[in-house]
Amino acid sequence: MRTRFAPSPTGPLHLGHAYSALLAHDMAMEHGGEFLLRIEDIDQSRCRPEWEEQIYDDLRWLGIHWETPVLRQSDRGAAYDVTLDELWERDRIYPCHCSRRDVAEAASAPQEGAPLFGPDGVVYPGTCRITHASTLGSRPKSSTLRLNMKLAAAWTGDSHVGSDLYYFCEEGHGPNGENGWINFTAEDLIEGVGDIVIARQNMGTSYHLSVVLDDAAQGITHVIRGEDLFEATKIHVILQRLLGLPTPAYHHHRLIRDDTGKRLAKRDDARAIAKYRADGATPEDIRRLVGL
Ligand code: GLU
Repeated sequence: MRTRFAPSPTGPLHLGHAYSALLAHDMAMEHGGEFLLRIEDIDQSRCRPEWEEQIYDDLRWLGIHWETPVLRQSDRGAAYDVTLDELWERDRIYPCHCSRRDVAEAASAPQEGAPLFGPDGVVYPGTCRITHASTLGSRPKSSTLRLNMKLAAAWTGDSHVGSDLYYFCEEGHGPNGENGWINFTAEDLIEGVGDIVIARQNMGTSYHLSVVLDDAAQGITHVIRGEDLFEATKIHVILQRLLGLPTPAYHHHRLIRDDTGKRLAKRDDARAIAKYRADGATPEDIRRLVGL
């Protein structure tokens, strides 16, 4: 078993991160497996070196040990580029020039009805979609690129739209108690997820592309993470199929919430691990607070 914790250094780790990291670490240790760390720092405008240092420091204090080297997504640009070039050559992606506002407006145009929300926000209405983008020339390096979900699903499936072609094993639970084999169809992907952004403008990648490539590169067998990412797993599964990568087992876990029931956010400094440490808490206190 090989698990991982994949924080973004955009603020202090809080109790929710502690729960996720401890759960993944405990599971690997119980099974004689390995625990890896990945720094998800693709959004350089929000990441800070001091937050990254604080992550290492907090995890060490919690008693967590990880294999080295740590994978940093900011070092993985070449791998993301190669994959995007391949998808471009295969006409599975296309450039998109819509702003968020354009997407929201087009999706809620009267003839379209109410905008449909998928795991990646409003389902893209297809304004910029083209079928043979590669005929435009070489891949534009700084544009937003979207996945043509219809072609992506057609490529990997055998055109039985409506049958259960896609699946992953959920060993934890989704937000509605989903557990076991989770099946979904090409139609669910095309209509309910749509043409997601696979490379953001000037970023050269996206969370979805990086997480799929990096879980495979790190040989992760069990992805342990918050249930807020349960629906996004469908995107990860279609990308794994498209790229010929294995699908790990998934274990989504409950979210740690504040007293009013709201999930903790990075700016929720009151529940930062650093704050508990400064107030004299022990790692055992943190375990107790998150119910471990
Ligand atoms: N970097 C993501 C986060 O901090 C985690 C993504 C994942 O575990 O797949 O929420």
